[in-house]
Formats: sequence, C-alpha cells, structure tokens
Amino acid sequence: MNALTEQVPFVVLKFGGTSVSTPQRLKTIGEVMRQKRSDGVRVVTVVSALSQVTDTLKKITECSPEQSFALVDALETRHFSFAQTLGLGQPRELETLFRELRTLLETARPGPTDFLRQAAILAFGELLSSRLAVAFLRQQGLDVQWIDARTVLHATYGPFDSAWSKALSVNCRCAPDEVLQRRLAQQGELFLTQGFIAQDENGETVILGRGGSDTSAAYFGVLLNAQRVEIWTDVPGMFSANPRLVPDARLLKALDYDEAQEIASTGAKVLHPRCLPPCREARVPMVIKDTEHPHLDGTAIGVKSKTDVKSVKALSVRKGLVLVSMETVGMWQQVGFLSDVFAVYKKQGLSVGLIATSETNVTVSLDPSENLLNTAVLAELQRELAVICRVKMHQPCAAVTVVGRGMRSLLHRLTPWLNALEAQHIYLVTQSSNDLNFTVVVDEAAADQFLPSLHSELMRSGAMNVNDDNIFGPTLASLR
Ligand code: ADP
Ligand code: ASP
Ligand code: MG
Repeated sequence: MNALTEQVPFVVLKFGGTSVSTPQRLKTIGEVMRQKRSDGVRVVTVVSALSQVTDTLKKITECSPEQSFALVDALETRHFSFAQTLGLGQPRELETLFRELRTLLETARPGPTDFLRQAAILAFGELLSSRLAVAFLRQQGLDVQWIDARTVLHATYGPFDSAWSKALSVNCRCAPDEVLQRRLAQQGELFLTQGFIAQDENGETVILGRGGSDTSAAYFGVLLNAQRVEIWTDVPGMFSANPRLVPDARLLKALDYDEAQEIASTGAKVLHPRCLPPCREARVPMVIKDTEHPHLDGTAIGVKSKTDVKSVKALSVRKGLVLVSMETVGMWQQVGFLSDVFAVYKKQGLSVGLIATSETNVTVSLDPSENLLNTAVLAELQRELAVICRVKMHQPCAAVTVVGRGMRSLLHRLTPWLNALEAQHIYLVTQSSNDLNFTVVVDEAAADQFLPSLHSELMRSGAMNVNDDNIFGPTLASLR
C-alpha cells in the first residue's frame, strides 16, 4: 500500500469500555482501522478503560489502604489475564503502569479534597487499556503509534470552576491545530490514544468527567480538522429511547447537532453531552456505530437532519435529580429575589437545570453530579438559601423528557402521553424556549417502569411519527 501524503485527512474513532474488553472486539477495531487506512484516511483511535475499571479505580481513591492494594491486585490480574488471552504475554508497559500506580498509593493517602491525586489514579484505566490495545494491534500487523493524550489535550478554566472541576471535570482547548496535524502526518498513519485524560497548566494529569472519552474524541476531531468523529459503542446508534429499557425504541438514522445535544443532555448515555458542542462549532460530522455489528449504518449527526417534519424523536429520562423549592411571601413584584437566589447557586458552583416559577415560589432542579454527591455542597446550599427564603429539597426525582423539533406545535398530541402519567405526582413541567423539549419531573422510583408505555403512547398518538423512514429505523431486536 502506498504511503499517505501529508495532506490526507484524519478520522477519529472512539471505542468505549465494552468495545475494548474482548479479543473479538479488539480485532474489529483493527479491521476498522485497516479499512479506513485503505480508504485513504489517517486514523486516530481513542479508547476508554476496560469496562468497570474506572469504577474500581474510583473505589481505590475512596477506600482504606489495605482495600485499595487488594483492588489494584485484582485490576492487575484482570489486565494480565486479558493480555495472556490476547497472546501478548506479560507486556512491560503494563508492569510499569502498575508499579507507578502502587507508588502513587504508597505515598501520602489522598484526602477527600485531593482532587488531583484522584484524577491521577482514575487516569490509569485508559493508560492501561491503550497500551494493551496498541500491543494487540501491532501483533495483528498494524503499524499503530501510541499517543499520550495529555500531550495533546490541555485543560482550560472558566472563572467559576471549582477545585473539584479543575481536576475531575475539565474542558480542553479546542481549535484546529495545524502544527499537531503536520506533526502526526509526518509521524505516521494510524494512532491510538486514551479518552478521558488531559493535562492542566502545571502539567498535572486531569480528567474530563465520567463518560468523558466521547468528549476526548470530539476534541481530537476538532484539533485534527477530522473528516468525521465516529463513536463506536455497544448499541447500533442513538434510539428514540434507551433500547435496553424500551424494546419498541427505534433507531434514529439522522439527527442535527441540536437534536442530538438535547437527547444526550436529557439522559441518553450513549453520547456524552459535552462531546457535541466542539463538533457542532467546528462542523465535524459525527456517527454512532456498533462495534459488535460494524456493518450497520448507525446514527449520523450533522448540520441538518434529512427532514424538517415535526415529530417527537426521543423519550429520555434523567435520574437522581434534586428539586429545590424556594418560597417567599414577599416575592410578588419583589425586585432582585431571583438574582439573590441564583447568586447562592453560583457561589456553590452549582449549575441549575430546570426552572419553574410562580409569584411566590421558584423551583429548580439540580442534575446529579459527583460534586453534588461527594461533597457537602447541598447542606451548604440549604443553609445559605434559608437566609433569603423558605427552602424545601426533594430527591431523588427523575426528569422525563420528550425531544423533537417543533415541540410547540406538537403539544396537543401529548395529551395521551400525559394521561399515561396520571398515577404520578408531577412536581414540575417545563417547555424549553428552543422548541426542542418538553419535560416533567416525577419521583424517581417508578420512572423506568412506565417508560415503555410512555413510548408506546407517543407512537400511538402519532406524536412520534415512526413511519417517516428518513428519520426512524428498526428496533434493536430487528437490527441484530
Ligand atoms: P460506552 O461505554 O461505549 O461509552 P455507554 O454505556 O456510555 O457506552 O453508552 C451506551 C449505552 O447507552 C447503551 O448500552 C444504552 O443502554 C444507553 N442508552 C441510553 N439511552 C440511549 C438511547 N436513546 N439510544 C441508545 N443508547 C442509549
Ligand atoms: N472510563 C471513563 C469512565 O468510565 C471514561 C469513559 O468511559 O468515557 O467514565
Ligand atoms: Mg460512554
């Protein structure tokens, strides 16, 4: 095969945890990379940690020294036995990484606010999986080069970032980088790197937040001015609802960036919500593909979906919400109440999700975030708000969202859908001004259970026009 010229474009492929955890799927990664190369593009592959490894690393940051060393032993056994299965023996790079991880744990124990040490520990999952994947792909005859993502992705900070987000949930600098493009083009044709990890201004390892490998791929896509970013996962695309909970859910063949953003932000885990803005901004198209069934087309995300027909496209659920209801008798025509209230959220570094107001009450929702779960921020919030108003918190709640372009003109079709929610206590209703979503907030306990019937109602009433085959494809069961 002739060498590629320097001008040949890049594509970025991202493979999630389940896509790197079996020999067969790693083989698929190699085949996809080989195929792209022979189609005449350079490839940068971004990988996540093997499935559940980041969860284990997180436990390591939280438990006693004895427990943490036992967990490292278990991780080591898992990685080395996988290496054996792959016919790689005992890779030296893995030994080095486990030595580094143990050294990190032997030096002073991380305290609960030692976020940089937590980030350094969490990064090992992707460092390990990327070393394993490169060794395997080389053994398969592919000339793949390993890139340390921390040399490419540099964290950027906003004025309201907390110490927590500056280490464990960073955004990165992201604009087409011709120097990087030229450097990689001179260096080779096939590359593999880690998702999830980056470097801060002091050269420390930081991470992009749980599920952040999708966002790493998007950043690489923009930096490299890629032809396309492909997110390879364990389902064949984005569906009209989570296909594991709703068997009737239909494949969404094509979405524009705004719709995909709305579906991802309202709960569809298949795409991390932060990965869309960089690609949308730089107009890099995205595709979601299934590693187990690589021949399937998946979901294409781009500037314009194929049809402007008004239809509900998806039903999403976001769980673990905290509702905060704030009431003041003095609010009627009171000046500055909302500003005082929101200043408290800003001070606590909390981003407000949904908002509903009446003359005397404002209710907001807070999405679950590690910040919320792992720190005393809620108690602090309650204490500070109590100075201004009467506060009530309610949790756990679930936000059930219907997403689709032209939602305003579809509202009348949602009547049967609302009827199906009859038995639920609805705490809050919002309709977004971008005309893309309608949300109700209910108790979390029943949310998964009534999802299939809510989805059926959307199809039955015609609000979700599944007969439009420009948008909707088959169900998961009939695709596989
Ligand atoms: P990866 O490890 O590849 O990043 P994730 O587990 O993060 O994969 O995302 C894939 C999962 O997203 C699927 O297995 C599916 O259960 C879930 N999911 C939730 N909502 C949707 C949806 N609307 N369409 C497709 N998948 C969804
Ligand atoms: N391994 C990381 C996580 O589990 C990042 C990712 O998979 O996207 O959160
Ligand atoms: Mg994911």
